[in-house]
Amino acid sequence: MKINRRIFTIQSILGTAGLVAVDLAQSEASLLLETSPQASALGYRADASKVESASFPNYAAGQKCASCQMFRAKQPTAAPGSCAIFPGKLVSGEGWCSAYMKAA
Ligand code: SF4
Repeated sequence: MKINRRIFTIQSILGTAGLVAVDLAQSEASLLLETSPQASALGYRADASKVESASFPNYAAGQKCASCQMFRAKQPTAAPGSCAIFPGKLVSGEGWCSAYMKAA
């Protein structure tokens, strides 16, 4: 996994100890709530079409977790998957947050 300053900064802000393995047993993880402090801080929405673009001008239509570098899922669909930004939680494949980085 490519580590860059943006990821490091976000991880530091969220109080985590850096990048961790994201291949969590998905059955043990719970869905990330939009109202959790970490999700709220990054403007996470389980449905990317509900992102308030006025508040998050870096959002562009079509961006979603399933196409993000941080997303790991067993199936490349809208199914939930893990995210390096939110360890121990599952994010929606149709979701989005301001840490979005298009997968290569
Ligand atoms: S957009 Fe990327 S960083 Fe943000 S919650 Fe989705 S997968 Fe994680």
